[in-house]
Amino acid sequence: MADALSIARDLIRCPSVTPADAGALDVLENILKGAGFQVHRVTFGEPGTADVDNLFARIGTSAPHITFAGHTDVVPPGEESAWSHGAFSGDVEDGYLYGRGAVDMKGGIACSVAAVLQHLADHGGKPGHDGNGSISFLITSDEEDLSVNGTVKLLQWAAARGEKFDHCVLGEPSNVETLGDCIKIGRRGSQSGTLYVDGIQGHVAYPHRAANPVPDISRLIVALGDEPLDHGSAQFQASHLEFTSVDVGNPAGNVIPGQARAKFNIRFNDLHTQATLKELVEQRLAKAAGNRIRARIVWEPSNSSVFVTKPGAFTDLAVAAIEEVSGRRPELSTSGGTSDARFISGYCPVIEFGLVGQTMHQIDERTPITDLEKLTQIYRGILQRYFG
Ligand SMILES: [Zn+2]
Repeated sequence: MADALSIARDLIRCPSVTPADAGALDVLENILKGAGFQVHRVTFGEPGTADVDNLFARIGTSAPHITFAGHTDVVPPGEESAWSHGAFSGDVEDGYLYGRGAVDMKGGIACSVAAVLQHLADHGGKPGHDGNGSISFLITSDEEDLSVNGTVKLLQWAAARGEKFDHCVLGEPSNVETLGDCIKIGRRGSQSGTLYVDGIQGHVAYPHRAANPVPDISRLIVALGDEPLDHGSAQFQASHLEFTSVDVGNPAGNVIPGQARAKFNIRFNDLHTQATLKELVEQRLAKAAGNRIRARIVWEPSNSSVFVTKPGAFTDLAVAAIEEVSGRRPELSTSGGTSDARFISGYCPVIEFGLVGQTMHQIDERTPITDLEKLTQIYRGILQRYFG
């Protein structure tokens, strides 16, 4: 039977730099078909983007249905001559597996596939002890860049087929330092915008005939940045608005500019939705601007909503499986950037637990082989408890 290391090496040897597949999904299709999965390969595209391969595989037809999600695409290797082992070699040395995707996240996918195969072998080829239950894999090659022809469309496609997911484990490298550190149970939302202040252009020698937007936008930046958006919630740190640039685009030293603009980004928690957040910021802007300053915000489109999987039975069984293998009680965290979990959370509760993220996206990305073995055991422990 395929073990996590050999699956991970086969995946790493496919140079699937996003959104290319380069044979990575074939590796999974062959293994999963051999274990009795029904495998679907679906290609999604839209104007202006490259077509992307995706894979959905399921065994069993009844509830409960647990799905392992992930991506086989990787970020580019960077300067390949700087790698001590080829970026797509899958070399093993001194107990480490090297290669792009070793931790983000071909290694994680390999562990979930190996764990499921072992679980099925222990249970007569069926997910649950009583023959019930379903296990599936939801794998895209479109996570690292655009994320438009991957998980979003694959979930819509699955829903249209009548697929219902009860729980999801996403094998992104959630651990910071050591396997067992951290389960991600949610992520903050992200919303960007630009603040515009309109003045009246004029000669610097005759300021009474002009209206300078520079001091006005400075006042508004301070006002919007100073007042906290909230003070955090049970699962999240406080929301935060950060200005990232201020521009007037004025090359002349003797002209008062006619307009100033400032870009900002907000990372927000579960006390807000995108709509209520925008309303709050616009109310504060109106108050700070008063009747005199002509200011407005243009919001950027965003698909990064906040989500959280509330601690409960599902997180408890994951914590127990992790503690049993690693000896560590993982923190339930909502920190860090976004992932495909934000899309999955619209369909079922999702947790993220995978390898240790220290070398992801770096030269010499690598994972200890013992971590591959431990993560496989942890996923087996999750399946055992889930169907137990
Ligand atoms: Zn990833």
